[in-house]
Amino acid sequence: MNKVIVLYRRPAGKPVPGDFKTNIEEIPIADNGEVLLKTRYVSVDPYLRGRMNDTDSYVAPFELDKPLQSGIIAEVIDSKHTQFKIGDMVLGNLSWKEYQVSDGVGLRIIPPDPEYITAYLGVLGMTGLTAYTGLTRIGKPKTGETLVVSGAAGAVGSIVGQIGKILGCRVVGLAGSEEKVELLTSRFHFDVAINYKTEPDLSAALKTACPNGVDIYFDNVGGSISDAVLNQINKYARVPVCGAISLYNDAAPAMGPYIQPVLVKKSALMHGFLVSDFADQFNEATVQLTAWLKAGKLTYHETIVEGFDHIPNAFIGLFEGRNEGKMIVKI
Ligand code: NDP
Repeated sequence: MNKVIVLYRRPAGKPVPGDFKTNIEEIPIADNGEVLLKTRYVSVDPYLRGRMNDTDSYVAPFELDKPLQSGIIAEVIDSKHTQFKIGDMVLGNLSWKEYQVSDGVGLRIIPPDPEYITAYLGVLGMTGLTAYTGLTRIGKPKTGETLVVSGAAGAVGSIVGQIGKILGCRVVGLAGSEEKVELLTSRFHFDVAINYKTEPDLSAALKTACPNGVDIYFDNVGGSISDAVLNQINKYARVPVCGAISLYNDAAPAMGPYIQPVLVKKSALMHGFLVSDFADQFNEATVQLTAWLKAGKLTYHETIVEGFDHIPNAFIGLFEGRNEGKMIVKI
């Protein structure tokens, strides 16, 4: 039988297990021009939270009682499609189903290299492309500049910080636990890491960590953490606004300080972006990320949760800081 996870109701605030439901279906059969896929690895991502609201956004909302979807690596276990053979590993935006058929549209065959396979959901996938394009195209780092990254021990943040170091920046990361702070400095070579949850005076800690001010702030979280950083930006600072996870569960938009005077005073650029804005640069970015990875200049960390039934729980964990690096569910 085939387990399928659907959106049972729209989360009111932080998602809870009861927002999801598992249905049992027949395992489908591939028709001519189709493949039968077995789900192997599922990416859970903060942006899925926005799709659980019934509001217009850049991607359509999930429908109630319909399967959720995210980036998935699956194995072709039957093929009636000329471009795929049994045993191929494919990447696509697929449904939270143990088994599903596909006509192949949007599926990409990935190398079956066991060492790197999950990297296609992380550093060699949307995560790495987001980090690379947001930092290099909007942040435009220069040697000797100071880069601050929030959500620094997460999937995107940990890659951003490492790229910042490769490009010669002083890199300061903000994260929510002592283990994450340790990971940032020891494994990812951040110059300084600050635990924003226990630091009694975040502004003072940032001042100490950034004696020359902040030239680039790569914002993954928004809210009060970002307010503290934005108060310390330098003239001509660049602020790639990648995400705002601290605000995703708010029913009504939170009211923060007004940022316009700081941006004017500092001639600063604050630029929201979607990774898809840079689709024409994905090939170039992937070549560079792969080269850094193979040369050992870039590394990545994953939090692997095991079991199809745990997909919702892993997703909820993103909002509780339960992941270090990329959160992935292994089936
Ligand atoms: P992460 O791996 O960073 O996971 C989420 C992390 O966010 C948690 O581990 C937690 O770390 C932190 N967090 C959760 N709640 C809060 C909070 N209330 N305040 C501060 N930090 C919080 O996820 P991703 O790397 O996949 O995504 C990071 C950001 O980038 C998200 O905002 C996401 O929406 C965005 N994004 C944007 C893309 C784009 O195209 N613009 C593409 C991909 C991602 P901690 O323990 O440190 O609190």
